[in-house]
Amino acid sequence: TNRAASRFGTVGASATYAVFDMVAELRAQGVEIFDLGGGEPDFDTPEHVVDEAVGALRDGFTHYTPSRGVPALLEAVADKLAKDNGVMADPASDIIVTPSAKHALFAALLTVLDPGDELLVPTPSWVSYTAMARLIGARPVQIALDGANGFRITRELLEQHVTPRTKALLVNSPNNPTGRSLTTEEARAISRFAAEHEILLISDEIYEKILYDGNEHLSLASLPSCADRTITVNGFSKGYAMTGWRLGYAAGPTDLMAQMLKVQQHTVGCTGSFVQRGGVAALTGPQEPVQEMAAQYAARRDLVVNGLNSLPGISCSPPDGAFYAFADIRGTGFTDSSSFAQWLLKEAGVALMPGSAFGPGGEGYVRLSFATSPEVLAAAIDRMGQALSLRG
Ligand code: PLP
Repeated sequence: TNRAASRFGTVGASATYAVFDMVAELRAQGVEIFDLGGGEPDFDTPEHVVDEAVGALRDGFTHYTPSRGVPALLEAVADKLAKDNGVMADPASDIIVTPSAKHALFAALLTVLDPGDELLVPTPSWVSYTAMARLIGARPVQIALDGANGFRITRELLEQHVTPRTKALLVNSPNNPTGRSLTTEEARAISRFAAEHEILLISDEIYEKILYDGNEHLSLASLPSCADRTITVNGFSKGYAMTGWRLGYAAGPTDLMAQMLKVQQHTVGCTGSFVQRGGVAALTGPQEPVQEMAAQYAARRDLVVNGLNSLPGISCSPPDGAFYAFADIRGTGFTDSSSFAQWLLKEAGVALMPGSAFGPGGEGYVRLSFATSPEVLAAAIDRMGQALSLRG
């Protein structure tokens, strides 16, 4: 009998775990694997951030904090949003510090979506958005973006998918898995669409600090027409190499954040006390470590993109941001990305993610993470080249 709640009926197992499981199995057999599958910085957290959190622990800063977050971090987030993003948020009412951006996203979706409400999700996208919507009883509506058009979000596509039940649109820029960042033109189209249909926006900006070629990050909430309808979500995992700390935040209109605070109060209570102190150091301390990591990602991006484009049947546009290359494999003779990924793992010992795992629009592509050492990246490209040429 099915003892779990019926909401799980629509939440599928993650296709990406098929690759994870195979990696673990092959490694257990002693096979050397070059893992470009994961989405986690290989760098350590900057030392001054670690020192601050260790100091907080030693000082006995180990108790509950206000549910919203420690005042110093709320202030630091408000300053950062104003300075970096042109987003005005009152630290006393419009910001909540959360245990991860992931939890901020879940709480934000729970705050705005009723069961049966529709959430627009342009895809390919990070795999958890649709699962979160389903867990809440809402309906994710995936909008397949066109790789041939650079995975651009257009007004036409949005209009094709809007219904009277559409409550919110989720936007992720810089994007996982495509590496694209929003253009001003796209932001304007989204803004007009949202205003006309009275749709809320959830903006996942977790890769903000990882942008290339002088690309500037654009926060949707900085557009005057979007400010009162956007919940901005961000975190420390990617830019500050703090994945294991579980630290993020959300900022948005006062009325929505008042409800979202109740989710926080009744679920996690608050974010880890000393973890938040680390967050203060990250935001207010020297930003050189962040720039240094971004510079290293940039060099790796070039290595991977140039490498991929030298391989038969593969083409890859350089990503604007994040640490993923999203490569078109349709020239290799493989018809689906999942068989390509499995074949590559067996033949070359290279693990990557099939594009199909990221929803409609992702088929025909694979995602390679370059949050790993240049040596592993170079070896992986070499192995791919050998496997592809042997296959002829
Ligand atoms: N949003 C996107 C697009 C991500 O890729 C990730 C992590 O993989 C997250 C959110 C979650 O970040 P956090 O570690 O803060 O939960």
